[in-house]
Amino acid sequence: MTALSVVIPMYNEEAVIPALVARLRPVLDSLDVGYEVIAVDDGSADATASLVEQHRAEWPELRLIRLRRNSGHQAALTAGLHRSFGEWVVSIDADLQDPPETIREMLRVAVEQNLDVVYGVRGDRTTDTVFKRNTAGLYYRLMRRIVGPDLPSQAGDFRLVSRAVVDVLRRMPERVPVYRLLIPSLGFSSGAVAYTRERRAAGETKYPLRKMVALAWDSTADFTAAPLRLATWLGMAAFAASLVAMVFGLVVWANGTVIPGWTSLFLAVLLFAAVQLICLGLLGEYVARIYRTLQSRPAFHIGSDSAETPAPIVPAQ
Ligand code: UDP
Ligand code: MG
Repeated sequence: MTALSVVIPMYNEEAVIPALVARLRPVLDSLDVGYEVIAVDDGSADATASLVEQHRAEWPELRLIRLRRNSGHQAALTAGLHRSFGEWVVSIDADLQDPPETIREMLRVAVEQNLDVVYGVRGDRTTDTVFKRNTAGLYYRLMRRIVGPDLPSQAGDFRLVSRAVVDVLRRMPERVPVYRLLIPSLGFSSGAVAYTRERRAAGETKYPLRKMVALAWDSTADFTAAPLRLATWLGMAAFAASLVAMVFGLVVWANGTVIPGWTSLFLAVLLFAAVQLICLGLLGEYVARIYRTLQSRPAFHIGSDSAETPAPIVPAQ
């Protein structure tokens, strides 16, 4: 029986795979439970998939799911979670920034305290860059305002969940959720294990600024319509300001002077046009999300899964 599934999204991670296998395997073997390790190759352009295949030859618990194209970290996590068999499922980064030894502690806490979720909380992030630490700090502060105080601070995607949680997640119609926000909002019993964020074992970050911004925006738009409300408030404030300007203009006019106004008029027109376009764009973002949800196209396509036995080849008659 598979007690534990370890899901590892991998995008161009050929450089870390040997170190990952060398460190993860002893930890899992020492747990004395049946387990599977699901490497989800997120459409890598390097040798990630073939390296995993090579390791599979001596490590039967290692399983490879290949996505047809690069679909993003959260999509790769979804593929692994949805196809896992374990009673418990741990998601962990490939680059050894999340120490595999912590898995043992997570499992112990979950079993002893009978919890459905155990978050890995990054106590020490001094190995991350100053930029990463600050942007992450800002992100978690903002998200706690949006999602509420149940959201554990500094808990990324290194976590353990029970089969009950996976079943709930699988039934959700959402395309690709932001798990670090969705899971705390489900209300399952939860605990946390602190760990020290290590340096990336090899290779480079697969989260450039563009993807960080995309994750921050997905996190916001998936959980709140506050930006739209902000547009309403902005409109009201502009209306109030224009009332004042109107009264001022009329009073000056009634006193027989006309304000020479090309510059002020021009600036006002520019400003309001810009604000309107921004608000329109914001609205468009939400409409696009509705449209995408309605289309309900899968967020990723699975090319192969080594846990599935290939269909028998029927000999030609
Ligand atoms: N990842 C992925 N698809 C992507 C980007 C990243 O599967 O499009 C994986 C990556 O291989 C790693 C994890 O997501 O296992 C976290 O990425 P990374 O360590 O580069 O992010 P950082 O720690 O720099 O935030
Ligand atoms: Mg990393």
